[in-house]
Amino acid sequence: MIHAFTRPRFTKAPTGDPAHTRPGAPLATAARRMLPLLLVLPGLAIAHGVALDPPADEDRLIRFPDTGDYLTLVVDLHTHSVFSDGHVWPRIRVGEALRDGLDALAITEHLEWQPHRVDIPHPDRNRAHAEAVAAAAGHELMIVAGTEITREQPAGHMNAVFIEDANVMLKVAPEAETDDAEDYYIAANRWPPERAVQAANDQGAFVFWNHAWWQSPDNPAAPTVMTDFHRGLIESGQLHGIEIANGIAYAEDAFQLALDHGLTPLGVSDVHELIDWDYRPAAGGHRPVTLVLAAERSQAALREALFAGRTVVWFEETLIGREPHLVSLLRAALDVDEVNYNALHNLVYVTVSNASDAPIRLRNRGGYSMPGQTGDVEVPPHGTAQFALRSDAVPGEVELDFEVLNALIAPKVHPRLTHKLRIEAAGGVDQVDLAR
Ligand SMILES: [Zn+2]
Ligand SMILES: [Zn+2]
Repeated sequence: MIHAFTRPRFTKAPTGDPAHTRPGAPLATAARRMLPLLLVLPGLAIAHGVALDPPADEDRLIRFPDTGDYLTLVVDLHTHSVFSDGHVWPRIRVGEALRDGLDALAITEHLEWQPHRVDIPHPDRNRAHAEAVAAAAGHELMIVAGTEITREQPAGHMNAVFIEDANVMLKVAPEAETDDAEDYYIAANRWPPERAVQAANDQGAFVFWNHAWWQSPDNPAAPTVMTDFHRGLIESGQLHGIEIANGIAYAEDAFQLALDHGLTPLGVSDVHELIDWDYRPAAGGHRPVTLVLAAERSQAALREALFAGRTVVWFEETLIGREPHLVSLLRAALDVDEVNYNALHNLVYVTVSNASDAPIRLRNRGGYSMPGQTGDVEVPPHGTAQFALRSDAVPGEVELDFEVLNALIAPKVHPRLTHKLRIEAAGGVDQVDLAR
């Protein structure tokens, strides 16, 4: 009941929320009228209301351009709140997502690991989702229903998202119900994980393998390998994705598993505390996210794109994904803004712009030289860079050819971007866009 004793404080009128605003009644008055009601009705589910509009902060928003064929949706499908082992109310998760400019968020509580079960008992395991939906009312942020199925190795942890009811993925014998969180977890672990994953799939869920690299807790250097358990799920079409970045870790073994087994690569925060503490967005940091190439801005389109594997993971300063998706995103982000030809010195000056939040680091692989430069060019986020090149083919046709050093299409493999320029003797320049 601690929330009932907290004096409600409105710094700003929440917009478009009929539960908070009554015509003619100032908010403070409405709140004062509601407070005694809350105190005398202990059985009433207390809604925590709509998340306040965040202060405008363009720099914090995670921004990537749409590709030619798809919208680029920014999503985090793995977070926690007090309804499992997180330490904030779902409304705070929603407020963070609004500040980060996410398109979609899932709060994925551990069904079985419930350390706050004495303080926050909630037999309905859909409560965190319901609170997040209430907090996101009136905002464009999509709240995806999800949960984390939690077992010891080899099954480990798996998220199921786009679910209808989390409760059917948990089975604990009534006699095993206990206030002790560890005993409860042990009891809940007895139900075979195959059954929980089946229950998720029966609801049409997208299921992914979380932090697969935690296979040997005693040996963090142990390689991440495919297990018989996960192979069986993949073969029966019940496991669809795999985290390749979670929190502060990127795992190239997990990325290789995604490529080898046709799993959708995901990047997630798995945040338990505060995004601001873990990623310091005010200092330029960001949570790991999955950029999903979706046909439209809807949960159905997001789900379709995840099943189709159209994702790019943005982790720290690196973009990671399958080649066609990553290259289409890079091509959408990069643009040749200007080309000038200096016939006297036979130099071509090229200005390139970047419409994304990621810096884009290019290494020259073309058959031309870049006088006075190392051949590495960094195009800053939402900024431009200029370089000069000299080629015997000029005037004529020259093909820009760059490796993108902070992008990965496989472990240790960078994508290549090419772009053809036709430079005429008179100084006229023709650009030919080359589709790879
Ligand atoms: Zn987990
Ligand atoms: Zn988790």
